[in-house]
Amino acid sequence: MGKTTLKIAALAGDGIGPEIMREAIKVLRAVEKKHALKLDITEASVGWDAVDKEGKALPDSTLAVCKKSDAILLGAVGLHYRDAELPKEKRPERAAYLRLRREFGLFANFRPIRTHPALAFASPLRSERLGEGIDLLVVRESTGGLYHAYPKKTEEVLDARRQGAKPGKVVRAIDTMAITGSDVERIAHMAFRAAWLRRKKVTSIDKANILETSILWRDVVTDVSRQYPDVVLEHMLVDTAAMQLVLRPTQFDVILGENTFAEILGDEAAALVGSLGMLPSATLGATQQGRTFGLYEPAGGTAPDIAGKNLANPIALIRAAALMLRFGLGAPEIAKAIESAIDKVITEGYRTKDIASAHDVKERQVGTSEMGDAIAAAI
Ligand code: NAD
Repeated sequence: MGKTTLKIAALAGDGIGPEIMREAIKVLRAVEKKHALKLDITEASVGWDAVDKEGKALPDSTLAVCKKSDAILLGAVGLHYRDAELPKEKRPERAAYLRLRREFGLFANFRPIRTHPALAFASPLRSERLGEGIDLLVVRESTGGLYHAYPKKTEEVLDARRQGAKPGKVVRAIDTMAITGSDVERIAHMAFRAAWLRRKKVTSIDKANILETSILWRDVVTDVSRQYPDVVLEHMLVDTAAMQLVLRPTQFDVILGENTFAEILGDEAAALVGSLGMLPSATLGATQQGRTFGLYEPAGGTAPDIAGKNLANPIALIRAAALMLRFGLGAPEIAKAIESAIDKVITEGYRTKDIASAHDVKERQVGTSEMGDAIAAAI
């Protein structure tokens, strides 16, 4: 039987992007040697790196590489100390990152968050709250909601509330929270399908006691849940969820929410693990002809404070590469091989600086490239 081929656009980007991308590709090449798989990897520039080389954050040539690929593996983009060089719509965060999401219709963000028993010390929570460990998945609708709906503007209006006093002008800023039933329906299906492969529980987040959008959200999610009788659905208000994540994080399996709510809860959950350097993220579009196009990246950013020093933890991007094989190629067993290799090196004591405890004598503090070598060797 011929090998399955996956075409990957590898966009390293800025800051620690190139260092962690090098390690992710190293691990993917090790995977390729062991499994019936051919990886066709094309590297292209993005972010400030692309601004410097080609004059814009997402050059047409890079977009063309992405369009010919089955998946995008992204390091990270953005360097806030360079922001003054370009207007905000031309900076990498908008002109490259958000553009890629729009261009490929990427609407479903997945952030798996899991603690490794050997890294429990890195969590700000006491060990009794971590129990057997946190293992949850945040599924976030990422094209609608408060971030993307219009009108979005800042204007001057007469302040009608200044009773007694002469009405004066005030500045008012408006964001809009809007969501359609079909947006909720498609993201809910993604969450239920994911839960079905996990511990079969979805906690849907909203603010249905106050917001119209949340009432629609709750109704549609409840409707969709009828198609997944094996999966337990629970509704939780976003403020309660923020509290429960800290009090009893192990109660959660899949957390499903609108863009803003799920982003905030996702970052809160990420903090419980202790380092951004461990956490991957996948943003998926619709499935066509059995394949799902997606953008796979670390949950963290470009980490300019440690860039170029061989200090960055490459595990977030290596885990993102595993997600790419799971969702983009439909090869969960190969994804699992990467995840097991990571668990193995952590158990053996390999630590980049962000996950080092300083108390454990079995630890071996390593740099970015040594961590990549160890994981590639463990494949
Ligand atoms: P950041 O995530 O880059 O860094 C926050 C902290 O986490 C830093 O102390 C950093 O050293 C640490 N960290 C992050 N990733 C790490 C890793 N792999 N290994 C070890 N430590 C790691 O957030 P920031 O400093 O607020 O943002 C820096 C830049 O990144 C900004 O320009 C921002 O816009 C951009 N950013 C990009 C993305 C993206 O490309 N998707 C996401 C978030 C932030």
